[in-house]
Amino acid sequence: MALLTFEEALREILSRVQPLPAETVPLPEAAGRVLADDARAATDLPPFASSAMDGFAVRGDDTPGMLQVVARIAAGRPAARALRAGEAMAIATGGVVPAGADAVVPIEVVAERGDSVEISERVEPGTHVRPRGGDLVAGDPVVKAGTVLRPAELGALAAAGVGEVVCSRRPRAAVVTTGTELRRPGDALEPGQIFEANGVMLAAALSAAGALVEPPVSVSDDEREHRDALERGLTADVLVTSGGVSVGPHDLVRKIETELGVEEVFWRVAVKPGKPISFGVRGDTLVFGLPGNPVSSLVCFELFVRTAVLALQGACDPGPSFAPGELAAPIRRNPERDEFVRARLRVDGTRATLEPVVGQESHMIARAAAANALVLAPRGEGELAAGSAVRYLTLR
Ligand code: AMP
Ligand code: MG
Repeated sequence: MALLTFEEALREILSRVQPLPAETVPLPEAAGRVLADDARAATDLPPFASSAMDGFAVRGDDTPGMLQVVARIAAGRPAARALRAGEAMAIATGGVVPAGADAVVPIEVVAERGDSVEISERVEPGTHVRPRGGDLVAGDPVVKAGTVLRPAELGALAAAGVGEVVCSRRPRAAVVTTGTELRRPGDALEPGQIFEANGVMLAAALSAAGALVEPPVSVSDDEREHRDALERGLTADVLVTSGGVSVGPHDLVRKIETELGVEEVFWRVAVKPGKPISFGVRGDTLVFGLPGNPVSSLVCFELFVRTAVLALQGACDPGPSFAPGELAAPIRRNPERDEFVRARLRVDGTRATLEPVVGQESHMIARAAAANALVLAPRGEGELAAGSAVRYLTLR
């Protein structure tokens, strides 16, 4: 039977994602969260007509001319009365433009003479005045539902007086890495052992995607150990395992998951690296079996798991989002599988060029760590020549 394509696998996953319920989140804790409802401005922004410069508030029609300075307005301290004809008020950036004034003359272009100020040129009404509501009007949506809150969105929400937002609950995620050969980094290696690399990597990736991650658990290739760790992991919203999904006698993950009631949706996808990936569900829990080679785990995470974690949070554009670029060196295509080639992205001017890193084997995580992009080399015959138009994913 033909393997699922990358796009088909993604559709299978996304069709099984139910966005998580929403909760109220204080704005200072909302970085990286996904908005569940539109957040609306509590006030006009700016809330009043304010000065864009340090200078003098005037009536445009009084200029040019010599005007009497009748008040000094600081930010947060409006003038006690309106401005009258022939008058100016000194005003700081952010100060309330007084009633009666319609323009601000920057301090740099006036001459102060005692209690008066001389303005030598005509100033058009509206000059250097930020109108009330010029950025937003009270009740306008500041940020739409489904948006991941970046620093700029948090700033906009704060400016609009929004103190708390409604966000989807963060998915709880569990990570189980499998392999009798795995040792904790920092311990001493016995013959045949390697350091466990996927736990910390997947936990960090899950956390960056917005999940609350339990400390990763590492088990040997033993049925009971698998059963205990997987049973616990299945209480999370997302269970991510690494290793043990191939066809070897010690590959136990799918067998034990089936015994624990996981309904397998697919096993194996036409991607390289990452072909043996499995995906299933138990109740509302999404269960990803990533292959053990660290680069395979990383690539499958980027393609499938991150997308699911963002979709669980109700993100309107969970990805993966490819950008267009140009290949800097040729790539031989795989006839059966879409390949995700680790590459260095260089942007000069408007050109994004992608240089594949040396060392593309799926155990070469140190080589992959030097990459900041995954180039999609679509399955097919022959090679993609240098200069070919390609699509790539940014590795964050
Ligand atoms: P598996 O998918 O279990 O057959 O593992 C494939 C390869 O990845 C083997 O060489 C494993 O030793 C290696 N591997 C599996 N899990 C990890 C891990 N957590 N960290 C580093 N290497 C791993
Ligand atoms: Mg293994």
